[in-house]
Amino acid sequence: MIQAVDHVRTMAPYALANLGGATVTSLAQNESAFAPSPTALAAGEAALRDAPLYPDPDWGDLCAAIAEAHELPAGDILCGAGSMELIGCLIRAFTAQGDEVLGTAHGYLFARTAAQQAGACFVSVPEPDYTVSVRLLLEAVTTATKIVFVCNPGNPTGTRLPGAELIRLRKNLRSDILLVVDQAYAEFDPQDPASVFDLVGNGDTAVLRTFSKAYGLAGCRVGWGLFPPGVALEMRKLMNPNNISGVAQAMAAAAVRDQAHMLDVVAHTAALRERAAGRLRAIGLDVPQSHTNFILIPFENDATAAQADQALRSAGLLLRGMAGYGLPQCLRATVGRADAMERMCDVLERFMEGVV
Ligand SMILES: *Cc1c(COP(=O)(O)O)cnc(C)c1O
Repeated sequence: MIQAVDHVRTMAPYALANLGGATVTSLAQNESAFAPSPTALAAGEAALRDAPLYPDPDWGDLCAAIAEAHELPAGDILCGAGSMELIGCLIRAFTAQGDEVLGTAHGYLFARTAAQQAGACFVSVPEPDYTVSVRLLLEAVTTATKIVFVCNPGNPTGTRLPGAELIRLRKNLRSDILLVVDQAYAEFDPQDPASVFDLVGNGDTAVLRTFSKAYGLAGCRVGWGLFPPGVALEMRKLMNPNNISGVAQAMAAAAVRDQAHMLDVVAHTAALRERAAGRLRAIGLDVPQSHTNFILIPFENDATAAQADQALRSAGLLLRGMAGYGLPQCLRATVGRADAMERMCDVLERFMEGVV
């Protein structure tokens, strides 16, 4: 019998949301409720004609568009087939058996999967009040720590640390530890003046972004990041050449050039989010302030969360259960269209009346 290597055989597959197959409205995967920019759709259609050709392996036009929008050096940007590809390559390039990847208790689970793929150990640090604690992260660092992975704003918590706290974290880490800041939701949280992009220049920090959330291009699989040159060099050895289709590159480049559309989506999403969060708080659910396109809904206990999930499913609404994230008493609701959000709140209002 043919056997996979030990560290692959013993790991669990990464679990996506269980979409159930029925005709349901999914509020489970933090996809955008809104269409991408019309210019992105047009660019994608035009790029279809180049289908016989391999795409630009260096994502030249896309990097130029990102660099211009964020005032960053285009040469320090790498693009991945989703930021998941970048997370995987980063962790595989810099960790192996015996190394530790330090993450947070309710942080993005794919970092754990990537650590396991590398044969490394994922160590998770508690998040009091659903928020990352720089103090607890620093206390958990050991001689084996190679990467500290922080998602900011957090998924599934929706909370965030001020940029100044991340700068403090970086200052107090050894220089041979790579700090990775996953900012998949940063577009929804534009207030913070302290930019973590500035940390990348020191050679020990990487920042990840994605087109899957605020830009509404989850189906295109495009993520990007800003990396120190020495880090990018090693990652590229592990990345598939020609990893992003020409259509996806063209759509992402046009999307990032239409900041007005993205900002409009973010504003509409925030309005829908706050309306739903307000309704849920009014019926006694202690929803933490979200800086993302989803809300975390804590119930009294695991059983109540499971019953609420069932009530929502019966009404054709699919949220994401959070047991895998160490939060079995919570459900996570992606901000969907207005009618789906109202239906969700209606179901939970009736549910809570029955519970109390
Ligand atoms: C959605 C998400 C990603 C994955 O993004 P892709 O670019 O679609 O691979 C990465 N990190 C976090 C925290 C996310 O929520």
